[in-house]
Amino acid sequence: MARVVQKYGGTSVGTPDRIRAVARRLIARKALGDDVVAVVSAMGHVTDELVELASAVCTDPPDREMDMLLSTGEQVSIALLAMAIHAEGEDAVSFTGPQVGIVTDPVHGKAKIQEVRGDRILEALGQGRIVIVAGFQGVTPDGQITTLGRGGSDTTAVAVAAGIDAAVCEIYTDVDGVYTADPRLVPAARKLDAIGYEAMLEMAASGAGVLQLRSVEFARNHGVVIHCRSSFNDSPGTIVREADATMEQAIISGVTHDTSEAKLTIRDVPDRPGVAALVFTRMAEANVNVDMIIQNVSEDGRTDISFTAPKTDLVRARKAAQDVVTELEARTWSVDEGVAKISLVGAGMKTHPGVAAQMFSTLADAGVNIDMISTSSIRISCVIEAEKVGTAVRALHTSFGLDDDAVTAEVSPGAGEGAGK
Ligand code: ADP
Ligand code: ASP
Ligand code: MG
Repeated sequence: MARVVQKYGGTSVGTPDRIRAVARRLIARKALGDDVVAVVSAMGHVTDELVELASAVCTDPPDREMDMLLSTGEQVSIALLAMAIHAEGEDAVSFTGPQVGIVTDPVHGKAKIQEVRGDRILEALGQGRIVIVAGFQGVTPDGQITTLGRGGSDTTAVAVAAGIDAAVCEIYTDVDGVYTADPRLVPAARKLDAIGYEAMLEMAASGAGVLQLRSVEFARNHGVVIHCRSSFNDSPGTIVREADATMEQAIISGVTHDTSEAKLTIRDVPDRPGVAALVFTRMAEANVNVDMIIQNVSEDGRTDISFTAPKTDLVRARKAAQDVVTELEARTWSVDEGVAKISLVGAGMKTHPGVAAQMFSTLADAGVNIDMISTSSIRISCVIEAEKVGTAVRALHTSFGLDDDAVTAEVSPGAGEGAGK
């Protein structure tokens, strides 16, 4: 008998029929003799709709109230799933994050899980029940409801798996696993059978939204094995675990893209020590998650500083940019929302020179201009114009030999252009 955690994403519980299908899957797993815990997301696009509702009544909603609102989505789906299980004649109990003791820090909207008190889950499992836990939410030690950032149900699932010492954390979603690129943008993308934590971390951090970044960090830190797979079939998916000698060490694991960031530029700042420190201190104080940074060549003792940050942080970033301009007597600031980040990720990159050169010449041949570049030991990222994202990702995917040849032949050029999550 094993203890398993299964997480079902929004599409997988998007309709009553799909909720019933998930209920049957959970019951079937329990019938094999396993203790089963399900972690579920809000149905379909409910979280997006709640975000829209909030912006219809307030341009800059208080973070605390946003979490009060967004956490309701998951409360609906856990109750419906428990009911669907009861309808099949099996016993289930649903719990919110606070009820089950998912304790987080107080950072509303992107709270970090500090502790999962497994006792309530274990007690219900001991009573022979299927346990259903709301994803994406927790509670601070002093009782405030928090959420974990978009896609946060993945992290709830991994944290629950660690908290109850489950054998595996299965993340069921609307694709068959982790692919060499987003299959919506690259029809020739191939499913990976296994990937190491390190490469998966870089893929998630650079836009592969199939697993939330925090969930992979949590899994690596607590040694939780993730099996990412489809909720619509029984095919084996992708195993995410510590890389070892048995795992194929690909030079390139995948190509990712991210259209969720904007580029901010602060123009004509004085080029002297302490200026960058001040710009990014102000951004940090405004809780803006800065990603790539570039400082232009100085002319007449003045320079431009550009950086990318999530579009969701833009209201705060604009305010902070204005403060910086005033404080430094810079000329002005601007925002470009029409950018995309594309990245090449692979643990084998460390030992293979020439990857960057091939990436840049592939982009040049495809007519894609590079605006910013950043690298880590196993990732190279470029900021490009958002309109070219499909062309760029597909060109890199082909150039680095990642295409599934069987699929490429059937794809019409330009399919999926501009898609992004
Ligand atoms: P869920 O609601 O189940 O959490 P998500 O929408 O968060 O699902 O994640 C699944 C989606 O992630 C897929 O539909 C796919 O478009 C996208 N995706 C992006 N990059 C990748 C990738 N490298 N491999 C697989 N899916 C990816
Ligand atoms: N419902 C939340 C979201 O849409 C959490 C999740 O789905 O993982 O981001
Ligand atoms: Mg998700």
